[in-house]
Amino acid sequence: EWVNFIKFFHRIIDRFEMTKEQNVTFKRNLPDQAMFVEIDEDKLTQVLYNIISNALKYSPEGGQVTFSVEERGKWMVVSVSDQGMGIPKKSIGKIFDRFYRVDKARTRKMGGTGLGLAIAKEIVDAHGGNIWAESEEGKGTTISFSLPYERAEEDEWS
Ligand code: ATP
Ligand code: MG
Repeated sequence: EWVNFIKFFHRIIDRFEMTKEQNVTFKRNLPDQAMFVEIDEDKLTQVLYNIISNALKYSPEGGQVTFSVEERGKWMVVSVSDQGMGIPKKSIGKIFDRFYRVDKARTRKMGGTGLGLAIAKEIVDAHGGNIWAESEEGKGTTISFSLPYERAEEDEWS
């Protein structure tokens, strides 16, 4: 159905902000005006849950997680950035594969099965979007995805 993604995203971030146990600050770069996209809300909740869980899991004490949404031509681009350990260049193409986990030793203590991002990719693909990662080791990671977006005509006149 058609969903105001901005309101929907705020609600999800709120939930993480209320339940987080770590000392991590949240920063929201979300537009004030509504952005409507045609999505399965439950599925996109899963996508965001998987991405945000990783950002928190890999965030250092006192780190910041930044959430952003922007319009890029015919796409809405959603990003979640953290200041964690990052992902080595040689692994970045593989993190969306099922059961892939960077550095077994390092991640064993973190728990998880290596399915979170594979599931996120499946869902984003099914919505006609793309998902990708940018990362610098020791500095942090940004996971972004795009969804087809057409600005409503009313918005153009308001
Ligand atoms: P699961 O999500 O199934 O609990 P997981 O978190 O290990 O397990 P994915 O979410 O698919 O699996 O992530 C795959 C791998 O990519 C992770 O094991 C981790 O090595 C790496 N990764 C994902 N997100 C981040 C991040 N924000 N910072 C650093 N590494 C990351
Ligand atoms: Mg995960």
